[in-house]
Amino acid sequence: MSEIYLGCHVGMTAPDYYLGSVKEALSYGANTFMFYTGAPQNSVRKPLDQLKIEEGRALIKASGIDENKIVVHAPYIINGANSLKPDIKDLATQLIRLEIERTAGFGAKILVLHPGAHVGAGEEAGIASLVDCLNEVFETNASDVRVALETMAGKGSEIGRTFAEISQIIKGCKYPERLGVCLDTCHISDAGYDVNDIDGVLQEFDAIIGLERLLAIHINDSKNPRGARKDRHENLGYGCIGFDALNRFVHHPKLVGIPMILETPYVEDKPPYKQEIAMLRSSCFEDWRR
Ligand code: FE
Ligand code: FE
Ligand code: ZN
Repeated sequence: MSEIYLGCHVGMTAPDYYLGSVKEALSYGANTFMFYTGAPQNSVRKPLDQLKIEEGRALIKASGIDENKIVVHAPYIINGANSLKPDIKDLATQLIRLEIERTAGFGAKILVLHPGAHVGAGEEAGIASLVDCLNEVFETNASDVRVALETMAGKGSEIGRTFAEISQIIKGCKYPERLGVCLDTCHISDAGYDVNDIDGVLQEFDAIIGLERLLAIHINDSKNPRGARKDRHENLGYGCIGFDALNRFVHHPKLVGIPMILETPYVEDKPPYKQEIAMLRSSCFEDWRR
């Protein structure tokens, strides 16, 4: 039986920190998960030795989770694509380096990074700036952690909306072996790709980027129609993509072994992940929000 690695975004808060993250994932029936090593919207980071990492890793081992499938998400304030403000680009370089070290400190191997926004300078300038930034990071950072560039919805001046842009970043970088991709179903739909034509999407991805670069997948429905460039996630089966297409992603033979992470919204302050993971495991939609 080929295993499906299915999980969701989990928190990491006091008092249990990483141990709590693992417990949260297990409570949803997940066999992988994604977390931020601190608040997503800032760079305040608690030292690793206060985060109950050993306890969390012991529980990971005991529950049979494969640590290689665990995903860390870099804070989304990082903007290495900002060529107009050198201090922001320098901060991005510092933070990416720090997050790679922290990812390694948790025993994880995949760090998801938003390519960033060109803030008016144009895609080419944004891509060149991010490539610069990544080159500087990898020059002084040897590690087996890979940075997975996330495919973006294209809201505002985001770069990384098309597979061609992602490919340009990877090809431009002096250390392509350190890079991979995280494909987000909501984002690619918002970017204009037809998620219902999964084979077409994967063929295009393979031709332009190479499927071997695909390190993680975010499984989200979208509140908006294809091409809307909005980036508003929806619960599986309640949005414009629909349950069947997302379910086919999760079970697609070419995607076996790739961690699939849900980032769907809470409903009335409650996480939807237990229901959504069960639906995907059974390939059967249930109208649980009713
Ligand atoms: Fe993301
Ligand atoms: Fe995402
Ligand atoms: Zn998103």
